[in-house]
Amino acid sequence: MRLLLVEDDPMIGEAVQDLLRAEGYAVDWVRDGDAADTALRANAYDLVMLDLGLPKRDGIAVLRDLRTRKDRTPVLVATARDAVAQRIEGLDAGADDYVLKPYDLDELLARIRALLRRAAGRAEPVYEHKGVSINPSTREASVNGVPVVLSGREWAVLEPLLARPGLVLSRQQLEDKLYGWGDEVSSNAVEVYIHGLRKKLGADILLNVRGVGYLVPKA
Ligand code: CA
Repeated sequence: MRLLLVEDDPMIGEAVQDLLRAEGYAVDWVRDGDAADTALRANAYDLVMLDLGLPKRDGIAVLRDLRTRKDRTPVLVATARDAVAQRIEGLDAGADDYVLKPYDLDELLARIRALLRRAAGRAEPVYEHKGVSINPSTREASVNGVPVVLSGREWAVLEPLLARPGLVLSRQQLEDKLYGWGDEVSSNAVEVYIHGLRKKLGADILLNVRGVGYLVPKA
């Protein structure tokens, strides 16, 4: 999953970026409203975390432009605890949810997961297929009832496939989910994580469509 983080405060931005990366998300971080607008026009993100008080162009303007373009990327706005009017303005401008600053980091991650789930149109968060059970919300997986531990990067490869079972994603598309700007990309990284996932979950869960990409079969 690839996230755009829009945050002008360097300390908060770095802390949130580290947190999200540790969870296996690819993160692009921009520090003002113009850069956010440029990034949103250039890339497809699974979610945007948008601070509203920004230099150059405020977050509400960025959000309004995004929705005017009929771009439905999920947006989580960040506002100060006492800024009720700003929160309402954000929701009315097309935000999907909001988080309060200073962040409760567990809550932040839970809201991100909930939005990603909702965006994928899955009311049922648990995926089950041939004895394999995977819950992206809790990041728990098991095979025939035996728990399996997946790494953050393995989740990063697995989640976009799980979000739409039956749909093939190319290696390039999976790579985009795995890395943010400036990350070193090794050419066979996706294959390495797929290999690890198939060893842990069984080859039936991650199918390789030769020359096209990978898919998770429909549950
Ligand atoms: Ca700010």
